[in-house]
Amino acid sequence: MGKPVVHVVGAGLAGLAAAVRLAGGPRNIVLHEAARQAGGRCRSYYDPALGLMIDNGNHLLLSGNCDARAFLAAIGAEDQLAGPAQADFAFFDLATRKRWRLRPNDGPLPWWIFSGSRRVPDTRPRDYLHLLRLLVPGKDAPISTLMRCDGLLYERLWRPFFLAALNTEPGEGSSQLAAAVVRETLAKGGRACRPLVARHGLSAAFIDPALAYLVQRGAKIHFEHRLRAIAFAEGRATALDFGAEVLPLGAADTLILAVPPAAAESLVPGLQTPKTTSAIVNAHFNIVPPPDFPPLMGIVNGTIEWLFAFPDKFSVTISGADRLLDVAREDLAERIWAEVAKVTQIEKSLPPWQIIKEKRATFAATVAENARRPGTGTVYANLLLAGDWTATGLPGTIEGAVRSGHRAAAMIVASQ
Ligand SMILES: Cc1cc2nc3c(=O)[nH]c(=O)nc-3n(C[C@H](O)[C@H](O)[C@H](O)COP(=O)(O)OP(=O)(O)OC[C@H]3O[C@@H](n4cnc5c(N)ncnc54)[C@H](O)[C@@H]3O)c2cc1C
Repeated sequence: MGKPVVHVVGAGLAGLAAAVRLAGGPRNIVLHEAARQAGGRCRSYYDPALGLMIDNGNHLLLSGNCDARAFLAAIGAEDQLAGPAQADFAFFDLATRKRWRLRPNDGPLPWWIFSGSRRVPDTRPRDYLHLLRLLVPGKDAPISTLMRCDGLLYERLWRPFFLAALNTEPGEGSSQLAAAVVRETLAKGGRACRPLVARHGLSAAFIDPALAYLVQRGAKIHFEHRLRAIAFAEGRATALDFGAEVLPLGAADTLILAVPPAAAESLVPGLQTPKTTSAIVNAHFNIVPPPDFPPLMGIVNGTIEWLFAFPDKFSVTISGADRLLDVAREDLAERIWAEVAKVTQIEKSLPPWQIIKEKRATFAATVAENARRPGTGTVYANLLLAGDWTATGLPGTIEGAVRSGHRAAAMIVASQ
């Protein structure tokens, strides 16, 4: 009898993380991906309009993202993430032209809020206490019912922080998801809060080394292999229908479905998943940033929210960006560049640009959508779910996606 097989469907981060955990073990791993390439919502490609490699979206991680970092360590790519040795975030306020740096101290005792040069300017230490109510365990509720969603500290710190983490206007965001992010990062101190960016692109960090790792350990990877249907009988998945080919599942075989929520819902009868999505808009400008410009800058009171300075370009992220989906790309490029020029003091007309609107970037991290997220196990004995939209306790992030894959792999190992 051959080894049992684990079929992983979907080669985004969730599927890759599950496959990497299981590869080289007692089961054969087969990865099926509908697209021509792996990475899903987290990948790099060559953009002819810019003449540069770009990421589909700038991705920011924090040093407290343990599962993401464990994944990178496993595939030998931890050095691909770059960031300051200590938590340090540059900020710029477009309304007042004020610049500052937010510098939480390393340890969990937050003495940085007592230091005028580390906290947000024009705020008082007691303003920060508002966050505590969010951290008291309780029923999930919109953030605005637990903490003030206005005022200087909110506009200059909590809104940018939670908008980036939840990809949802924070007032409407889920308190449980926001609290989970704070507990795993800021509440642990600056050591867990260092901003990290894949300096050579997302694929060089997360995708290419993972594929190489899997191939080296004998995993089979099929691209352009879209799962069209799953056959079920007696509480198990019994066959995978890829259109041209139908693969029967043996009694000991397992399926990890790591596809986006709508695809999972169409494949698994009775499955409930989050429905509402939230957009992210990214802009890239082919212009070399000044050498002393910070690699990352938070921008308040503008359209742009985070400005990334890569060695060969400036890139901008705007989260919760559904309001911009109908704005013409040319108008957006002009509007965004005008703000970038103000922040960077570069007096140049619009350089070559690219705008990427990811309409379904993540599920909307609201209370209602959070309640619709299914767990890893299903009613089918050999079918497990993975994806940033499953019930990880985190918003739709790299950390959540990787953790979901790790959980699915752990359940398979435990069932041995
Ligand atoms: C623009 C943008 C910016 C972001 N910024 C950040 C950030 O700053 N920090 C952060 O932590 N996170 C960020 N995220 C979120 C992060 O990218 C996602 O949480 C993560 O990539 C999701 O991975 P996944 O594996 O769950 O899903 P996906 O990446 O969607 O992977 C699912 C895979 O399944 C495949 N598939 C679909 N249907 C089938 C089928 N029937 N058969 C076979 N394969 C199929 C798809 O092609 C895809 O490759 C951002 C996302 C976007 C879009």
